Amino acid sequence: MRKTKSALEQAMATKKENVPEFLTEVRDILKDDFVIDKGSLEIVLFQNATKASEFAKDVVAALDDVEQNLISGFNGDCDIKEILSHLTVQPDKEIFRQVLGCGKMCPFCGVPCERGGSGHKQHFSETHRPKGLKYYHYDFNEKLVATVCTSSVACDASFCCTETHDKFHPYKDYRSVNDYFVSWDIPPDTSIQAASYWKYVLCTFNKEFAEAYNAKEADIPDDWKTIQREIKAEIKKTYNM
Ligand SMILES: [Zn+2]
Ligand SMILES: [Zn+2]
Repeated sequence: MRKTKSALEQAMATKKENVPEFLTEVRDILKDDFVIDKGSLEIVLFQNATKASEFAKDVVAALDDVEQNLISGFNGDCDIKEILSHLTVQPDKEIFRQVLGCGKMCPFCGVPCERGGSGHKQHFSETHRPKGLKYYHYDFNEKLVATVCTSSVACDASFCCTETHDKFHPYKDYRSVNDYFVSWDIPPDTSIQAASYWKYVLCTFNKEFAEAYNAKEADIPDDWKTIQREIKAEIKKTYNM
């Protein structure tokens, strides 16, 4: 409503008194927000031979009525719990489903797959995490591993775990380990921005994670220490917040 009213004001500023021209102007201003069918505009034109300024005033008054009705609907006796129980999609279950994904977790960092349901062959997550957050550590010095898996699969390093029968295996070739590894799509990404929020979490709580896992603190790469400014943009992009 705010957008429509503002579009009407902007169109009025053009001083177009001819209703068809005025409506075309409004439609243009709103084109990124609403798809307004030309046919329905023609019906409006047919019924309104008045001046554009009068027409705009009528629309604003009608919008005010709708707004008042909606407000009284929300403030009135409506029982939100009752309404929610009749929705075909339960919002809390839907949010939970999205957070839970399909239930599978990245074999390296433990991030949950974001694809819901069981109808996908490849598990995927937009953001992976430093592996140490899931107690991934170096055997020889017990230090948590700071590297994010998207960065590991882009370099020539190797890993070793029970699934590889304790033999070193190239990260790049992780899919060949077994069926579980092959089911994960981990796109290579070595940028500093990748997973900046989770890098910050490990930087900040390195000691706490090491204590909780009974391991040694991760060696934090120097360029992570200035990561704060990347975080806001990354969270906005990843979680649409
Ligand atoms: Zn991962
Ligand atoms: Zn999945």
